[in-house]
Amino acid sequence: MKENKVYTVTCIETCPECNGVGTVQSQSWTDFWSEVERSGYKAHNMGMDDFNDLVAVYEDNFGGLGPQTIPCSECDGIGEKIRKVPLLDALHDLGIMPRD
Ligand SMILES: [Zn+2]
Repeated sequence: MKENKVYTVTCIETCPECNGVGTVQSQSWTDFWSEVERSGYKAHNMGMDDFNDLVAVYEDNFGGLGPQTIPCSECDGIGEKIRKVPLLDALHDLGIMPRD
């Protein structure tokens, strides 16, 4: 490798924060489900009427919930993390060139 040159490759991987979806649950909804769990309700066997009642009670006490999902801040909502990786690191990572 010549001096003053750095060879890199582009690494595109599924965002670990949102698993490639591009959105994550908003904090207000995470807090809501925590509160639901704490109060003993089981989300998986809750009917729509119970759910709507819980949302209404929660919003009365804690304010509006807003959207359930928001763009993932880790990947800016694209579901992928794109970064430059030094060529040698990529070759090691791919198993093409052994480490050491
Ligand atoms: Zn993401």
